[in-house]
Amino acid sequence: MTKFHSIISRRDFMKGLGITSAGLGAMAGIGPVFKDLDDMMASPSGNFKRSWWVKERDFRDLTIDVDWNVLDIRKPFTIAPLTMKLLEEGPRIERRGAAMRANIKGDRLQDHAVTEALDRVMNYVKAGAPVPLNQDINVASTQFLNGGPDYWGTPCWEDTPEENLQLVRSVMHYFGSSQVFVFEIDDYMKKLFTQEVSWGDVDTPQVNQSNGVITLPNKCKWGIVGAIKQNSVIQKYGIKVHEDGPAKGYQPHFAEASCYDAYIDLHIVSLKIQAFLQGLGYSGVDAQFVGSGRHDPIRSLFGQYSVPFSAFAGLGEMSRANIICSPEYGLGIRRPVLMLTDLPLTPTKPVDAGIFNFCHTCKICANNCPSGQLSKDDEPSWEVHNYQGQPINRSGICSYRADYVVASNFGCPRDCSLCQGICPFNHPNEAIIHPIIKGTVGATPILDGFFANMERFMYSPENMDMDAWWKRDLNSWSGDALPGFPSRVD
Ligand code: SF4
Ligand code: SF4
Repeated sequence: MTKFHSIISRRDFMKGLGITSAGLGAMAGIGPVFKDLDDMMASPSGNFKRSWWVKERDFRDLTIDVDWNVLDIRKPFTIAPLTMKLLEEGPRIERRGAAMRANIKGDRLQDHAVTEALDRVMNYVKAGAPVPLNQDINVASTQFLNGGPDYWGTPCWEDTPEENLQLVRSVMHYFGSSQVFVFEIDDYMKKLFTQEVSWGDVDTPQVNQSNGVITLPNKCKWGIVGAIKQNSVIQKYGIKVHEDGPAKGYQPHFAEASCYDAYIDLHIVSLKIQAFLQGLGYSGVDAQFVGSGRHDPIRSLFGQYSVPFSAFAGLGEMSRANIICSPEYGLGIRRPVLMLTDLPLTPTKPVDAGIFNFCHTCKICANNCPSGQLSKDDEPSWEVHNYQGQPINRSGICSYRADYVVASNFGCPRDCSLCQGICPFNHPNEAIIHPIIKGTVGATPILDGFFANMERFMYSPENMDMDAWWKRDLNSWSGDALPGFPSRVD
């Protein structure tokens, strides 16, 4: 309809419908009178527009007749009668299994695995995530008792690592992760797991209750890293701290909605891909929540894995802000999906988009960090900060060091996410200048200082108007993610 509005006139539109000016006059008697096509889109109701052909009727006046003397919802009633045909699982399973074994497109193992995954996660969430997941999403499902190759009498999914990567990328894009990367769990990558992890010939993660050590399956030789995007509009509301009042020195807390929202997406997308891998006949071990499950605050600290594995798999580069900066999304990403698996996958490589080089001169995050924890040094360092005799930065990497004692004393990260909204790499690629600048930065550092200054000049922290957000035009606003709607329809 948008395209249509911009290219044809009201007269052409009426001609196309075969309506003459006389007919138009007659129409005025039966429908809304409009001056132009945009006007026709307007509805007197609410703050979003219905299409012009949607007319309002009176309250309780439906397009079907209602006899209020007869209608009584409290009378005995059976909804969706459970006939034998509906209850008989056997024929249904046989039909679906036969279609799968016959390799009918839309009913193959990989096709079913998508539906099964979502069905399981739906039931898991509906039941209030009742038990620690413990790497087993095989919860009761309304449609599939078990699912997966054994259930259907088919072999496990088999394809090349390249094809498997494409399969996983495709399904995770649908599940909510736009970019998927892979690291191979070799002896180097195993050094990135904490001392709480060991490796053994186990089928699922095993927790040693006496010392808390978690044994992860040797068979899981690959790690999936899936980008989780924050809402870029909401996080922009946090790029300036309050200058006075009781919240002086802190960013508007509203901005942190983008963090929690993204964490919800992380959990849901992780569950979906975990169940999908099961549906193919493989394991999915959620590396951030191994062992005693999602509900254990200690174990959930395993999110510390997200930065190193994201860097080694190529999601982005380590940045001055001490988190991963993505070439496409800047710092506007949250903890990624981190799923270990025995499904063979082609590993992806680390990237150089000129980001870390750019950080040398940019310093925008550090200069705006209200806690002062981010380094403003020109060069990265091998040195680490310490607290009570313990290092609080990882030794063995040369990076810009954050002083997490200073951060904690300020309240970071609970009270702030400012740096995530302010990074120049956050700018979406839609504006033509941004891919050009990113491309230049990726090729040469010569103009880094110029671009950083330009960023400071053009995108100095704005006074984002909170009231404007609440009253945004819901007809044209593209800053919300609406479930069920593809981002683009051709
Ligand atoms: S704001 Fe600048 S210094 Fe900070 S991470 Fe982004 S590019 Fe690097
Ligand atoms: S989140 Fe932490 S590091 Fe980032 S700007 Fe705020 S206080 Fe600084």
